Amino acid sequence: MPLTPEQQAEITDQRAQTAQTRRVVAPGMEEHLYTAHPVLDHGFVRVIDYMGDDSAITQAARVSYGKGTKAVQNDEGLIRYLMRHWHSTPFEMCEIKLHVKLPVFVARQWIRHRTANVNEYSARYSILDREFYIPAEEHLARQSVINNQGRGETLVGEDAQRVLEMLKADSARAYDNYQTMIDDGGEDGGGIALARELARMNLPANIYTQWYWKVDLHNLFHFLRLRADAHAQYEIRVYAEEICRLVADWVPHAYKAFEDYRLGGAQLSQPAVEALRKMLKGEEVTAADVGMSVREWREFMEVVG
Ligand SMILES: Cc1cc2nc3c(=O)[nH]c(=O)nc-3n(C[C@H](O)[C@H](O)[C@H](O)COP(=O)(O)OP(=O)(O)OC[C@H]3O[C@@H](n4cnc5c(N)ncnc54)[C@H](O)[C@@H]3O)c2cc1C
Repeated sequence: MPLTPEQQAEITDQRAQTAQTRRVVAPGMEEHLYTAHPVLDHGFVRVIDYMGDDSAITQAARVSYGKGTKAVQNDEGLIRYLMRHWHSTPFEMCEIKLHVKLPVFVARQWIRHRTANVNEYSARYSILDREFYIPAEEHLARQSVINNQGRGETLVGEDAQRVLEMLKADSARAYDNYQTMIDDGGEDGGGIALARELARMNLPANIYTQWYWKVDLHNLFHFLRLRADAHAQYEIRVYAEEICRLVADWVPHAYKAFEDYRLGGAQLSQPAVEALRKMLKGEEVTAADVGMSVREWREFMEVVG
């Protein structure tokens, strides 16, 4: 478990407290509040706060004075309509604040999603923990030969062991040097006491960082659409998948619509629609007939095939 007993005690204490409110609460999300859901070897995702539930989406869509719920079925239908027709602003009425612990190389991909509010742990001010992401053996793979941005055949045996040993040794050596550089030598002094903002520069990208990340539901769905996708890098995908589970408990109707129309759905280009129509008529059709590249055709066949 990635938490110290002190951190766990703080969470338990926080979870023991309740407050009365007139605000809408989502029972599924109340259950998750503050709990750290483990991801990778030292990471986690935990919900710190949230605003709104499924009814907040329909309430905003109707610009309602009251709770906005005429009937649960109506709400679900409206949410599905909004999702289908890219009427996105009602989804922005729900917000979520997460505490995420993640390797720096995952954070670099994550931070590209600009439509969120972020506050990261400061390695200028604080000392980073000796925690490095070391992949499980089954997640080590050779470079893909068909996709420059992906993995191919899984590494096994001696090659896998060599990679793991290199990752562990490099991480340990970098952290030992980091410690030596920041060490002030204790009461007698005599250490280097290099500024933390400088000492951190030799640390590898598999070290863990942490941040608070707040985002609205529309932009969260955009993030999940890209990062929970099968083509996303495994190490960020597992975070996105964990967040998907939380969102499913928070706004079940909106999440189901997202699953049906975005995550599990597909967008077809005009040539793809033309090819599909020909196929449905029983006609032979090739990539060249509709002006698609080999790669585009392969992606199209993944959708329809
Ligand atoms: C599989 C994959 C591979 C990738 N490979 C690379 C790569 O090789 N190199 C690389 O640099 N990135 C790469 N990215 C990152 C990608 O290009 C996006 O930066 C990232 O996915 C964030 O998407 P976004 O900008 O839509 O999200 P957000 O930043 O959350 O923005 C959401 C939407 O808001 C709008 N928006 C936000 N800010 C602006 C702005 N300043 N100007 C105009 N519109 C704005 C846009 O419509 C945007 O789609 C990759 C992403 C994926 C999923």
